[in-house]
Parts: sequence; C-alpha cells; structure tokens
Amino acid sequence: MTGAAGVVETARQIVAGEVTATALVARLYARIAEVDSELGAFLALDEAGAHAAAHELDRKRAAGIPLGPLGGVPIALKDNLVTRGIATTAGSKILDRWIPPYDATVVTRLRNAGAILVGKTNMDEFGMGSSTERSAFWPTRNPWNPARVPGGSSGGSAAAVSAELCAAALGTDTGGSIRQPAAFCGVVGIKPTYGRVSRYGVIAYASSLDQVGTFGRTVADAALVLQAISGHDPRDATSVMAPVPDLADLATAEADVQGLRVGRPREYYGEGLEPEVRAALERTATALVERGATLVDVDLPHTALALPVYYLIAPAEASSNLARYDGVRYGLRADAADLLDMYRRTRGEGFGPEVKRRVMLGTYALRSGYYDAYYRKAQQVRALIKRDFDEAFGRCDVLLTPTTPTAAFAFGSRPTPLEMYAGDVYTLACNLAGLPGASVPCGLTADGLPIGAQVLARPLDEVTLVRAARAIEAAVGLAGRRPHVAEVSA
Ligand code: GLN
Repeated sequence: MTGAAGVVETARQIVAGEVTATALVARLYARIAEVDSELGAFLALDEAGAHAAAHELDRKRAAGIPLGPLGGVPIALKDNLVTRGIATTAGSKILDRWIPPYDATVVTRLRNAGAILVGKTNMDEFGMGSSTERSAFWPTRNPWNPARVPGGSSGGSAAAVSAELCAAALGTDTGGSIRQPAAFCGVVGIKPTYGRVSRYGVIAYASSLDQVGTFGRTVADAALVLQAISGHDPRDATSVMAPVPDLADLATAEADVQGLRVGRPREYYGEGLEPEVRAALERTATALVERGATLVDVDLPHTALALPVYYLIAPAEASSNLARYDGVRYGLRADAADLLDMYRRTRGEGFGPEVKRRVMLGTYALRSGYYDAYYRKAQQVRALIKRDFDEAFGRCDVLLTPTTPTAAFAFGSRPTPLEMYAGDVYTLACNLAGLPGASVPCGLTADGLPIGAQVLARPLDEVTLVRAARAIEAAVGLAGRRPHVAEVSA
C-alpha cells in the first residue's frame, strides 16, 4: 500500500481528476490499518467523517465548484486541538472519552480550505514531554527506527507525516514540540510567530508560549498548510492583526538566499552538541554560502538561562490552566464521598506523573511570597532573552542552529526529568521570545537517523523563515531517503 502523497501533489491530483477524494481516503485508511499498529501515531481516527468529506469534495468537483487550496488533502491533528464530535484527550486519562462540542479555529479553517481530517495524533500528556513516552495511552515509535522515540510532544503528528499516513499534520509548540519531533522524524516543522495562528480551541498548556504549527514532508507542504490556518481570530485575544503573507508561491519557488545574512549564535554550538549533528550543521551553513548567503557569528548571552526560565514559566502557567480539570466540568469524574475527595481522586487518577510534577512546581513558584522570587524574576530574564534576539537580528536576517543536540534517542534512555528537559536547550528560547522557527532535515547520522537544522526569524517574518528553510531543503535535505516504515510498505 503506497503512502499518502504530499500536500501540493495531492491537491494537484484531485483538481486534475487523476484520483477521486473517495479513492484516496479508502487507500489511506488501508495503509493506516497496515502500518499504525506498529507505529501508534493515531489515538483516534475519523474514517466516517473523512469518507463524508471526500464524497462531498467529489460531488463539488463534478459540479465545477472550487475545492479550496487544500481540496482533498488528508491532514492529521494533534489530540490537543478540539474537534466537534470527535474524542479529544490531549494524551490524558483525565479527558478520556471527552467529546468536544465545537471545533478549534484551526480545525474550522482546514475544513473550509477543503482538507480531509484523518484523525487525532498521539502526544505527551498536555504537551508535557519530548518523546511521547508521557502519553497516558501508549508511546509512538519513530518511523526510521522503532527502538527510537519520535520526539514530542507532537510525536504522533511527526511520525504520521514521516510514515506517509497523511499529507501533513498540525501540532503545537510550547518549547519545541513541533521542531524537535520534526527533527527526530526527518520532516519539516514550522512554529509560527506567537499570535500568528489562533489558539481558540487549543487545549492550553502554557498560554504565553503555546502556538499551533504544521508538519510536512517538504517546506512547501508545511508552508501551504500554515497559510491556511494563519490570520487574525477575534476569538483569541492574543491573535495578531497583521496580514498573512503569501507563503504558497514562495515555498514552491526556486530556493533563493542570495544576500541573506545567516547568524550562527555561538551559544548553540557549544558543549553537549553531538559531533554528527555539528558536522551536519556545518555542511548546511557551507551549502547556504555556496548559494549566496553570508555567515555572521552572533551572541545570545542569556541562552543558558532559557532552560530554567522555561521550566519555571511553563509549569506556572500549566498549574493555572490545568486547575479546570476538577471532575465537575470535563471528562473523568472519580467516585468519592464528598466534593473535596472527588477533586482529589479525579486529579489523582486522571493526571500522569509528569503532569503532577509540573502542577506541583508551578503552584510552588506562584505561591504568595514566592511569586516575586520565581515567576516575576523568570519574566524579567525572559525579557533579556528577547532582547538578545532583537540585537542579533540587527546583524542578520535568520539564525541557523541545530534543532536538538542529538538525533532521536532510545525509549527509556532519559529516565529522569532533568535529562529529558536538557534535550530542549535549543528550542525553548524561540517560544520565550515569541519568534517564528522551523526545523528542516539536513542529513542522517551513520545509524540512519535524521538530523534537523533549526531556522529562527524575526517576529512575523515567516517569509524569510520559509525562504531559508527552502534553501536548506534544496541544498542538503535528505536526498530522497525515506524511513523504514515507508520503505517496508511501499
Ligand atoms: N518538551 C517541552 C516540555 O515538556 C516542550 C513541550 C512543548 O513544546 N509542548 O515542556
């Protein structure tokens, strides 16, 4: 059973009448049935909904009605994006069997653009994790090597795209949850500027950091889907008014980085970076120079503080956001003698250990008397981190860094929370500063695992972000290599 084609290619095939949406959907679910029992990328499938959408698309096409920019394109959704009538768990037992009564804005926009929504993908509980090992249901495997994690928290979305179980997918990125799994699974992941995409209907983890973004096997695919979900939404008070740039043309155009100033922050190339990842980034920089870019060394002096600041702000906001899961309003309700006991048991049974740890850390940091010492201090350092970027972007147009210090790690190899958190060093600062960022495949390790290059750009400058990402893809990329799973079933 061959894999799903990409976004651009599927949309073209459907418009050209080379395939019907109905046939495409039938083939896709056959492939998912064949591959996903090993992979575990999906928590829920909406086969009936997909068939109905496909049928409607075929009817429209026959009647000559325009299909929308994503007409017939199968897209998977991370399970923290609420979907009307379809179970949405955020990877947690506390929301097991919760059926939302409405669609997130991003879901509505995908439907309006003609996309076919395939199902809901696995994730670390409430987005707290970097491997999907913290999903309350099961871990997802890496399509390149089943003994390795796919990354997280959006590991299900990255694995589904990599294994060709959909054309593209949505994820969320609070501290790297799109870019890191994209790097581990050898796909493109784009996290737009904070506020570029609506958070209405996104199950909150840390509201000042959370952002929805896209996965695709090519930059063009990820950019096209991003364009469809971007833009102001009156239902999200943090949504920006700025017009959405035309990414579609750009992403399919010839990769051009002539004159682009590429900054390399020294702090991102220090200790702890694996030699193979360093070498791949070196090759990437050289390839960009060959295409007309110039390299600039820059400093981001507060980089080392991003990890502690993030792991203070994110749990603080999470502890407040997760207070709503009390057994009264959503999902799980434990049997109990009285109300307090019911709260305790519901949260005790419903939340996993990592979520409990973060709620404890967060409530501790926000306690009266401690607020100034922790949360306020962290926000002050956050402003310094942001200022570092402002200064760096005075000297360059994009930053080029590794996405992660290592390629995908083995299941169980990061048993303590601190070991897990340390893997996020290169992705966290982007969210603290609200910048757009992307991860693009830039090579494989000797063991055949993908390596990701991270590009960061100025706020709202997704155009330059995509331009640089496109050039990396064209210059290095994965040279057509596909993961184990895709090869086996092709
Ligand atoms: N791994 C980070 C965390 O656990 C980032 C997660 C995310 O971006 N959702 O908080």
